[in-house]
Amino acid sequence: MKLEDLSKIGTKSVKLLNNLGIYSVDDLIRNYPYRFDVLKKRDINDNRFYDNFVSDGVVLSDPVLSFFRKKMNRLTFRCNVQNKLVKVTIFNRAFLKNSIIPGKTITIIGKYNPKTETITASNIILRDLLNGFEIIPIYHLCKGISTKQMSNYINTALLSSKIKNNIPDELINKYDFISEDEALKIIHNPKDEISLKKALKTLKYEELFTYMKNVRLLKQKNEEHNPLYIKKIDDEKIESFIKSLPFELTLDQKSVITQMLQDLKSDTKMNRLLQGDVGSGKTVVAFVLAYACYTANYQSALMAPTEILAVQHYENALRLFKDTDFKIALLTGKMKAKEKKEIYEKLINGEINFLIGTHALISDDVSWDNLGLVITDEQHRFGVNQRLRLKNKSVSPDVLMMSATPIPRTYALTIYGDTDVSSIKNLPKGRKKVITYVKKTSELKSVLEGIYNALKNGNQAYVISAMIEENEDTDYTNVYDLKHKFELAFKNYSVEILHGKMTPEEKDKIMNDYINKKINILISTTVIEVGIDAPNATVMVIFDADRFGLSTLHQLRGRVGRNNIQSYCYLISDKDKERLRIMEEENDGYKISEADFKLRGQGDLFGNRQSGALSFKLSDVRRDYDLLVKVRDDVNCYFKKEFQ
Ligand code: ADP
Ligand code: MG
Repeated sequence: MKLEDLSKIGTKSVKLLNNLGIYSVDDLIRNYPYRFDVLKKRDINDNRFYDNFVSDGVVLSDPVLSFFRKKMNRLTFRCNVQNKLVKVTIFNRAFLKNSIIPGKTITIIGKYNPKTETITASNIILRDLLNGFEIIPIYHLCKGISTKQMSNYINTALLSSKIKNNIPDELINKYDFISEDEALKIIHNPKDEISLKKALKTLKYEELFTYMKNVRLLKQKNEEHNPLYIKKIDDEKIESFIKSLPFELTLDQKSVITQMLQDLKSDTKMNRLLQGDVGSGKTVVAFVLAYACYTANYQSALMAPTEILAVQHYENALRLFKDTDFKIALLTGKMKAKEKKEIYEKLINGEINFLIGTHALISDDVSWDNLGLVITDEQHRFGVNQRLRLKNKSVSPDVLMMSATPIPRTYALTIYGDTDVSSIKNLPKGRKKVITYVKKTSELKSVLEGIYNALKNGNQAYVISAMIEENEDTDYTNVYDLKHKFELAFKNYSVEILHGKMTPEEKDKIMNDYINKKINILISTTVIEVGIDAPNATVMVIFDADRFGLSTLHQLRGRVGRNNIQSYCYLISDKDKERLRIMEEENDGYKISEADFKLRGQGDLFGNRQSGALSFKLSDVRRDYDLLVKVRDDVNCYFKKEFQ
């Protein structure tokens, strides 16, 4: 069912939901809260410091709005909380100003200091607290959709859909799960912690069950491979394309290409994971494979996790294939309906040989003439699900998944079913090792000098912080603070920020400005895209480096050192020196991942969650690996019985 078919949702809201990655009623229902705020009324007369104070109260004074630094603001007002007069402050919620009116009852969540009788609120809800206890689901939102609206949309969707159990009854009974219909209702409208836990347990299992079922289904489909394909690949054409490249392929690139061409020519389907450290040159390998398919008259798709990466791949492909008759097109969610329609038509008519894009590639509207190969970049999970969604006149396509995050073979086998793994181990010639320093916060001056030198030479810098906003619970740096500090330190340069709470459009704009050198210093959380190529950036500074796993640090560091100029990476931390020192010595992603594994048990094998790699909505492959294995066994056992 389409979102447009729901009564209460207008076209404008549909667009906003699309921006959040929600395209269907099912997407909406499965748009799970990413966190739950448990609100339990506290007694203010305890006279205690509370980090998580919650109470309703009556507003006594009009709020005063003040701005400070750039883009920061603060609302302050007085409130009667349980007959005590307190001063309430909340940061960066200027939009609440007109809703906080004297006489109104509101609920305040935040930090209470009994000495000063002040509350620094992290959230304010514009109504009283029901029964003194509530669980509030918190969703990813965007400008134009509030928590309340999101909640309403989801409940409308829940009412108008029939939800069947994906988990077979037998397993529901075995594990004492509740029905999925009930679980979904609870997760979006939680009343108490016990039932919420049960609902989460059910839905998490369901998520992995559905996934593993698909892995199994694909394994069965893998048997059919179109034999016509095999004979038609034109090695000569491929060879001449490789000769036309502006650089010579590395030995590893050549050998993985040979290996994969054999896959294409063999009579079993290709399902291969190509691992290669950041900057090792996986993209061009993907291009060669896509071109090989084309010589056999098959279409290929390359799917990237973000719009910017998709555009970057597209522009690269246009440049490298300019002397061939390989027809390349771009499809992203942001394109106008008319442009998309044109692409759909050309695709089904076979007038496009290679389509590069985002998730838009697996939209229901896309049909292929004869899709032979699907390549996914840095977005492993789709390797499995997308193939089941691709509408294709020919048989199901070969699959190549590319990743810079090395994972152990056993993990790969569980997650992808039967997967072959190839690796590119060496970087292209001429690359200089990124020189890495671990620095204490007291040594910041030398770091700033490093940045200054790079900017002076016309190069750019990335500065990474773990947090977006100030959070009184920690003394970690945050993006907004750093922006302020860097603007003071680098007066003649442009400093911008990038973080996950910005809209996709805002993020794209900033990234593009950075790639086009309009920004000198980019201050960002770890959202800076895996895979993005801004070769002019030569300095990477990571604050509170101890907060990150080594593999994540390595990924972040991989954003620099992408040309032949010497690049630098500064890891700033007063803790955890020993572990961070590994980064000073080691530049090899595999070795770093191994070291991380030894030091931290599971380590940081899958990079950080934000990168989208291998993260499900509720589960996390790293954290829930044992459950995944159990689910795989359950799936195999269940379907074996079913086919008997
Ligand atoms: P990744 O494996 O991280 O996706 P990319 O494919 O983005 O790496 O390649 C990084 C950069 O290296 C690109 O600018 C690409 O053009 C360049 N490159 C790829 N292969 C070679 C090579 N054999 N010699 C020199 N440069 C190369
Ligand atoms: Mg890449």
